[in-house]
Amino acid sequence: MKKRVGVLALQGDFHRHIQSLEKLQIPSKAVRWPDDLSDCDALILPGGESTTFMNLMNQTGLTEAICEFGQKKPLMGTCAGLIVLATEVVNNHIDPLGLIDLRVERNAYGRQINSFSEKIQIPSFTDQPKFEAVFIRAPKIIALGKGTEALGFYLDQVVMARNERVLAATFHPELTRDHRIHDFFYREFVERN
Ligand code: GLN
Repeated sequence: MKKRVGVLALQGDFHRHIQSLEKLQIPSKAVRWPDDLSDCDALILPGGESTTFMNLMNQTGLTEAICEFGQKKPLMGTCAGLIVLATEVVNNHIDPLGLIDLRVERNAYGRQINSFSEKIQIPSFTDQPKFEAVFIRAPKIIALGKGTEALGFYLDQVVMARNERVLAATFHPELTRDHRIHDFFYREFVERN
C-alpha cells in the first residue's frame, strides 16, 4: 500500500503541494491539527510566511507535534517551510524547530519584486541535473551543519539540502510541472523509512 504524505495546511501554498502529490498518485492529507498527523507517514511544510507558520503552529500545538513526528518520520520543507525546519534564522526573532542543521537568512534576495525563476543544478538527478526553480522572497542557506548534505546549487549557493529524514529547498518545487523533487522525496525518504 502507498504511504500517505501530509501537507501542513495552516497558510501558504499547501494546495499546490497536494496537486503535485496527486500528479504522482501519492496519497496526501491536509494537516491542520496535531491529530491529523496520526495517519501520515511524512509531512511537507510549504511556502508561505514563516512567522505566521510559527504563530499558528504554536497556537494549535503543531510545533511540539511536528518535532515529535520528525524524530521518526520524514519531512520536506520548501521556502518558508525550510526556515521553520532550520536550526537558526540570522535576521529574525524566529525560534525554528531545528530538525535540519542549517543557518538561514530570510528574504535574502530582496522583496517580492525580486522573485525569480532560474535553472539550478541537482547533480544527483543524473539523467537531467537542471531543474527550473521558482524563488519567491526566498531565504538563503548561509551554513550547513554536521550531517547536512548539499543537493542543489544555484550560482555559489546551496539551495537544496538533506539530512537523514529531512529534505529542504529554498525554492518552490510545487509551482512547476517538474515533479521530480516530490518523487525523489517519496522514493528516497518516505518509502525507505
Ligand atoms: N519570505 C517568506 C518567509 O520569510 C518565505 C517566502 C516563501 O515561502 N515563498 O517566511
